[in-house]
Amino acid sequence: MKRKRYIVNGRVQGVGFRPFVYRLARELSLTGSVSNTQEGVVIDVEGEEENLEAFDRNLTDHPPPLAGITRIENLEMESLAHFKEFTITPSVSGRTHQVLISPDASVCLDCQREVLDPGDRRYLYPFTNCTNCGPRLTITRSIPYDRPMTSMACFEMCPNCLAEYNEPSNRRFHAQPNACPVCGPEVWLADKQGKEIARNRESMARTAELLIQGKIIAAKGLGGFHLVCDAGNNQSVEQLRKRKNRPGKSLAIMVSDIETAEMITRINPHQEKILTGMEHPIVIVPVKKPFILSPLLSPDTENLGLMLPYTPMHLVLFHYMKKILPPEKPAALVMTSGNSSSEPISLGNREALIRLCPIADYFLLHNRDILIRCDDSVVFVPDRNPVFLRRARGYTPAPVFLAEKGPSVLGAGPELKNTICLTKNDHAYVSQHIGDLKNLETYDFFLETIHHFKNVLQEEPQAIIRDYHPDYLSSRYAHEESGLPVFTLQHHFAHIFAVMAENRFQGQCLGVALDGTGLGLDRTLWGGELLLVDNTKLTMNRLGSFQPVQLPGGEKAIEEPWRIALSFLRQLGVENFYGFPWMKKFRNQQKHIFRMLDQNINSPLSSGCGRLFDAVAALLGLVETIEYEGQGAIRLEKIQDPSETNHYDADLFRRGGMIILNTPALFENVFQDLKAGTRPEIISRRFHLSLAHGICNWVTSASRETGVSTVGLSGGVMQNMTLSGLLQDLLVNSGLNVLVHRMLPPNDACISLGQAVYGREMIKQ
Ligand code: ZN
Ligand code: ZN
Ligand code: FE
Repeated sequence: MKRKRYIVNGRVQGVGFRPFVYRLARELSLTGSVSNTQEGVVIDVEGEEENLEAFDRNLTDHPPPLAGITRIENLEMESLAHFKEFTITPSVSGRTHQVLISPDASVCLDCQREVLDPGDRRYLYPFTNCTNCGPRLTITRSIPYDRPMTSMACFEMCPNCLAEYNEPSNRRFHAQPNACPVCGPEVWLADKQGKEIARNRESMARTAELLIQGKIIAAKGLGGFHLVCDAGNNQSVEQLRKRKNRPGKSLAIMVSDIETAEMITRINPHQEKILTGMEHPIVIVPVKKPFILSPLLSPDTENLGLMLPYTPMHLVLFHYMKKILPPEKPAALVMTSGNSSSEPISLGNREALIRLCPIADYFLLHNRDILIRCDDSVVFVPDRNPVFLRRARGYTPAPVFLAEKGPSVLGAGPELKNTICLTKNDHAYVSQHIGDLKNLETYDFFLETIHHFKNVLQEEPQAIIRDYHPDYLSSRYAHEESGLPVFTLQHHFAHIFAVMAENRFQGQCLGVALDGTGLGLDRTLWGGELLLVDNTKLTMNRLGSFQPVQLPGGEKAIEEPWRIALSFLRQLGVENFYGFPWMKKFRNQQKHIFRMLDQNINSPLSSGCGRLFDAVAALLGLVETIEYEGQGAIRLEKIQDPSETNHYDADLFRRGGMIILNTPALFENVFQDLKAGTRPEIISRRFHLSLAHGICNWVTSASRETGVSTVGLSGGVMQNMTLSGLLQDLLVNSGLNVLVHRMLPPNDACISLGQAVYGREMIKQ
């Protein structure tokens, strides 16, 4: 006989951790107790040595699906206590625990079975959940995570539900959102005026019918509203695009099951694993040809954002759809965020009825309040691990683990793709995707999120860190509203601090930050930067950049990339370029643009990598006016012929101590190739290859000079899987240690993390 004591920290509350320990101990004939304490979950256990070893293994290797153990302390006790049985000690309320709230989790297999079992009391009940699944962050106001602190507080459990809740061996033991058709939330269908048409099961059946008839439904979900329509109905998709004012950007879809997903897309095993995992994000996958759904879903790429049903409500909806649809027809729905473009996703019933009225024909509503918005997460899966495009539902608020403990600070984030980051001890909590801080609605969401994070983490920051750009709403908040000491960090350095923090790398690191725009320390626009950062000594150097180019018209040039193409041509002194159709079109504006450039009227300098992609895409005639960020690059990547292996030279030169990547020369090569009649598909591939080789040379020459052999890659351009894949291979083959983002998006969603880790060091020093 032996006795052991464990102290377990991390996400161990509200995830069925204590019942798991209870069952495990009983199975192994161990005695003792498990309890929630201030230090974490404490397990006191005794029994046969062999059984204790098995207990130990199971505890570390097979914890409940939603648990996230950050640390297990393990003590051998000298004397035996001779416990009679194994018990769960009730937790003492009013204490502050080291608690982490779980992200919202997709409906588990057990709950799925119940929802689809006609004999079960939760048959077709849209709010079924258990300790292994269901809503968490989006229904939680504050800690401790207990029913009164959630939006389930107003639903009193019926005797059946209460019995489940109180029984340690039940899957719903202490499942705070536990509910059933007798006592839980309800769903109903309403018209545009908010008048109820049908309730509960009937409303779901009616919704399925309306969708198949081609209607657009605003459906309240887990973290906000979705706009939903039949993905196989071209007219509905066209209608939705028109009403949402979103002509070309890809629309995500949800299909009934993995078999349907395989019918319409080419999914590899890694993608399937992420699609069906606990988080259920939108996964970007290549479509199968011929494509059997609406061609309007994803006009700019060969890829499609796909997800599987993640709430019981989705299961019920597909259940009714499949009853109506012929068996050979796939059940696929467009599920896009319920907002008009640029605003945050709607969350309340009344708010949605007003804001989504111009878009939706009907509203599927329910009465379980969403306390904080959370969009669907979006990932690429290039290999085993996802690369995030948007990190939100299913992942937030899981922390990034930092290398050391430190004071609490708040990273305010940038303007576009804003997130905030609040640190606590050695954890950095990066918020869900907030959006572009360009309007009051999004700014309110930003404020709500800061408030929410302080509440659920019970933490007050000691300082706030903002972007170098003083006019971003996040920067203004830092100065005018936060009431905290403010530190400032330039955008691209923040990118590199973020990628270093994610990889828990400390010391000297080269950084390649490639994106569209960020205000540089010299007041020009940066975005193709070679940096050197030491995150322990807090030294920062700009070693190199892309050769800057003028943007005639500033913002206007970003919207109309042909202007940037003209700027490159002017810089190169190319005179005769009217051989291409798009150029003829802009011939009458050429004089005007050239005058702006020559006299430097509203033509700021930019070294942004995104601008180079824009210019090449425009030169090849792929875009004229841009509808969404990165559209030119996405179209350029789409057309490439991957069998092409030749590339141009992308040379480097020195200027003022910096290593400059000669991007105009690269552009000229593209131009000459096009003039020589080479196909755009070949040129696109050559361009990607050249840029990867050029950047690799750029980094290796900096590595030779500085003796630093680690390089971090960050910035929105890293979402170009072609470029980032090629670049990583080349850098690794050159003997460099390469750090990339795997927990946060490489885009500006990671900026708040970089700011926060920088701010913590500033305070420490
Ligand atoms: Zn479940
Ligand atoms: Zn009930
Ligand atoms: Fe950026």
